[in-house]
Amino acid sequence: MNITEISAKTILRKGKKIDSWFISKYGMNLYRGCQHNCIYCDGRDEKYRVEDDFGKDLSVKINAPQLLDSELSRLVKRETGKTGFILLGGGVNDSYQPVEAKYKITQNALELLGKYDLPVHILTKSTLVERDIELIQEINRTTKVIVSFSFSSVDDDISRKVEPGVAPPSERLKVIDNLKSRGISCGMFLMPVIPFLTDTPEMIYKSLYSAYVSGIDFVVFGGMTLKEGRQKDYFHENFDSNYPDLSINYDVIYNGSKWGQPTEEYNNQVNQLFLFMASKFKMPIRIPPTIFNRFLDDNNRVVVILEQLDYMLKIRGQDSPYGYAAYGISNLKVPIGQMRNQLREIKGVGKVTERIIKEIIDNGSSSYYEKLLFFK
Ligand code: SF4
Repeated sequence: MNITEISAKTILRKGKKIDSWFISKYGMNLYRGCQHNCIYCDGRDEKYRVEDDFGKDLSVKINAPQLLDSELSRLVKRETGKTGFILLGGGVNDSYQPVEAKYKITQNALELLGKYDLPVHILTKSTLVERDIELIQEINRTTKVIVSFSFSSVDDDISRKVEPGVAPPSERLKVIDNLKSRGISCGMFLMPVIPFLTDTPEMIYKSLYSAYVSGIDFVVFGGMTLKEGRQKDYFHENFDSNYPDLSINYDVIYNGSKWGQPTEEYNNQVNQLFLFMASKFKMPIRIPPTIFNRFLDDNNRVVVILEQLDYMLKIRGQDSPYGYAAYGISNLKVPIGQMRNQLREIKGVGKVTERIIKEIIDNGSSSYYEKLLFFK
């Protein structure tokens, strides 16, 4: 492992609009590269221009705490609306990868987020997050922390082969138990499920069952992309020898999409399967409003709920106008409450969407949305 200390120019990353998967508009990458070295990681894709060897060369943004302090100080003065959680993780690195034990940059970032009273969403695969559990609990007391773990399955043997640098799922689930016992909201990002290996009914059932038993608050699901080039090559170099009988099926479902997407037919099948299993456990398939509501202003809350509604209809194979309407609302320059009587002027907002938006403005949620989210 080659570790290089670098000075970053900025740390906080601002999205064009709120992200309804993570309920965040701002996030950060504290490291570049990832020691976890999952064989499916799309961080290897050429588009990230990581010239180095992804799993072996790591850059540490050594000046991140100083930069972040001044960026957060400006953010809390500038940002007048409520824009959700600051995302710690995601992207193409893990904030709690092993090198964090030495550098403690993520721990410093957490302390700063606590100092500025900002809600935090941590996304990781690492049990090292448990080191900061007291700090997480402290921030959760004053604002809120969500800790989400990603899993490709809850099978330890498979994980050892496909995620060689991380603690097995059983260890991650133990950390979740600890976090839940301290009142922290936890999520499972069941992604990516690996075709023909962790996307089977038995495996998806086991993952959801584990989430249910651990009291996990939501499960967000996603399939695997496999882009031509470094990502696909590295995956097959490491997958085929372990699972030769499975790899021969890959050319059928990954047949040349520019974005590395599997075929629509495959996606539909696996989505339907996940939806069916999630309904058995009445498991929310998006972060629920009970967790995010007080951290969003009306505009962002409407955008998030409409986007989640859009997802939940599409995964059921139904058409939806809500994603388009959400996009129109994300571009509004005025509080949506001021447009209460002109909602139909917003692109994509028809009669039914108008009624749902009014309900969200008045009650903070929508009964139709909650019916789908909680499988009522
Ligand atoms: S933990 Fe995430 S970022 Fe790191 S290698 Fe695995 S998939 Fe990639």
